[in-house]
Amino acid sequence: MSDLPEQRDGAKLRLATCSLAGCFGCHMSFLDIDERVVELLEQVEACRSPLNDIKELQQADVGIVEGALCNEDNVRVLQQFRENCRILVGVGACALTGGLPAMRNHYGLAACLKEAYLDATGVVNPSIPSDPELPRLLNRVRPIQEVVKVDYFLPGCPPPADAFHELFAALLQGREPQLAGNLVPFD
Ligand code: SF4
Repeated sequence: MSDLPEQRDGAKLRLATCSLAGCFGCHMSFLDIDERVVELLEQVEACRSPLNDIKELQQADVGIVEGALCNEDNVRVLQQFRENCRILVGVGACALTGGLPAMRNHYGLAACLKEAYLDATGVVNPSIPSDPELPRLLNRVRPIQEVVKVDYFLPGCPPPADAFHELFAALLQGREPQLAGNLVPFD
């Protein structure tokens, strides 16, 4: 593959990660590579990630995106990742298909807001939030490849830790990831 990052002498692979409409379960699964993370961190530098709470995105070799697109801010962050990351990887069912967040697509945005903020049991002073600081919801939850080109996907909810490990091993070695069998669950 031509656009895999080339290993620069002594330079670490610059990694950016984000969770859009996701639950951070995919990030947690990555951490399940356990002690192998120590070796990985000798070769990878997290330049933007909830793992170290750095929110500014600079040029990165690899961008990992968890979660679907629920609102306009998700779209903005995703486009920023595409513009600044040489390789973009979508991780998890939510990024790939919309996953759990896309269940609201069956009912429509207005019906979901009415149910959540006006009609739900226990709601006090029912009103639908309208603060301009809140990002506007999309009418429909969208998978990320509907908006940007995605170079790789790790499927699963969440993808197995070994799939993350194979992805990073391949990127560091400049080869195609070997993802097959148990590494590609479609649950
Ligand atoms: Fe969470 Fe599963 Fe979606 Fe990952 S794919 S963000 S684990 S619900």
